[in-house]
Amino acid sequence: MKMIEGNQKLAPPEIPTALQNARKDFPILKREVNGKPLVYLDNAASTQKPQSVIDTLTRYYEYENANIHRGVHLLSTEATGAYEEARQKLATYLNAADSAEIVFTRQATEAINLVAHSFVEPIVEAGDEIVITHMEHHANIVPWQLLCDRTGAILKIAPVTDNGQLDTEALKNLLGPKTKLLSFVYVSNAIGAINPAEELIAAAKDQGIPTLVDAAQAVQHTTVDVQELDCDFLVLSGHKMFGPTGIGALYGQLSRLEGMRPYQGGGDMISHVTFEGTTYKEPPSRFEAGTPHISGAIGLGAAVDYIESVGRDVIEDYEAKLMIYALKRLDEIPSLRVIGDFEKRAGAISFVMENAHPHDIGTVLDTEGVAVRSGHHCCEPLMRRLGVVATARASFSLYNNHQDVDALVDGLKKVNTLFG
Ligand code: PLP
Repeated sequence: MKMIEGNQKLAPPEIPTALQNARKDFPILKREVNGKPLVYLDNAASTQKPQSVIDTLTRYYEYENANIHRGVHLLSTEATGAYEEARQKLATYLNAADSAEIVFTRQATEAINLVAHSFVEPIVEAGDEIVITHMEHHANIVPWQLLCDRTGAILKIAPVTDNGQLDTEALKNLLGPKTKLLSFVYVSNAIGAINPAEELIAAAKDQGIPTLVDAAQAVQHTTVDVQELDCDFLVLSGHKMFGPTGIGALYGQLSRLEGMRPYQGGGDMISHVTFEGTTYKEPPSRFEAGTPHISGAIGLGAAVDYIESVGRDVIEDYEAKLMIYALKRLDEIPSLRVIGDFEKRAGAISFVMENAHPHDIGTVLDTEGVAVRSGHHCCEPLMRRLGVVATARASFSLYNNHQDVDALVDGLKKVNTLFG
């Protein structure tokens, strides 16, 4: 990922040709909030949806809607084709070797729970260890705590430095013969830090330790190549990458998925059922019990098409420049302190202000039409580690521009006046 250097000149970033029409592609950006044009800076929570994704969903329900995999009639065949095509699109997007390595889930959260239940639980014994980091989203903490409660395994936490960086050497020192999984966040949703995924995976691999990458905040900002990373598992959420809610995915190396027990039981994941015993399908079907979120998967495929139509290099480059601009402009507010001081950052800027609680910041900004998130961002341990109870977070996407940043800064100046 690109580095953001602190002392670059303040100039609004130019919008590249491939993004010139991006704002028009997202109909919601036309609406007003509290009488002001919407400035949507809560993209780490959920991105907005382009018209192409909305149209794909409408078209699916208007023309194709049917249950998949089990029907011989035309609608079912078409819906099955579209669902499996979406799986292939996501596989190509992540450079997975085989579309069978993509399991559709409800979101990143379910994908992590699936790995905990189906991969880790059968191989851990009391006293074994799972290593995560101090900057994980609760989705990558709580499933492991539950697993440890069930099995007697121990959760080890790799530390974060005072300035919000992962202490990679300390993490490596935690890895050992008892480690059954290293699971870490690629890009922090709370503070925007980017972790050195390849280095961490290589360190784990040296000791034969499987890895899970939480890429929920990475796949929409940069190219993520699972073969290059060589991770065993990777998880993502569709709604954070311009797709619908309720759909996400687990990438798992086929050799891993093949050896895993089912996650949930039900229709479509079985080969044969008798009362004496049941046999299961091969991955990915083994992990997709019941009727899946068919339209969600197809909508996610359309979201992937949208990102590809812009180009991930274009997005990464533009967002990096927008982030530099935003950081520089935030510097104008003396009472404001950006949380986390690191060379590499993507997606989010978290900050606090003297005298104003993050919820006050969020409320005042909302009156100006500016949507940011305030709170612990589902990262309570990280907040505590960094000495704050909550932050305000502005998080960016490809459709944001320097006017959005300017509106944010104007709103924050108002906060400063009200609370300063
Ligand atoms: N991991 C990270 C880094 C996230 O930012 C989030 C959501 O904010 C999640 C996991 C969980 O995503 P979801 O709620 O879509 O499962």
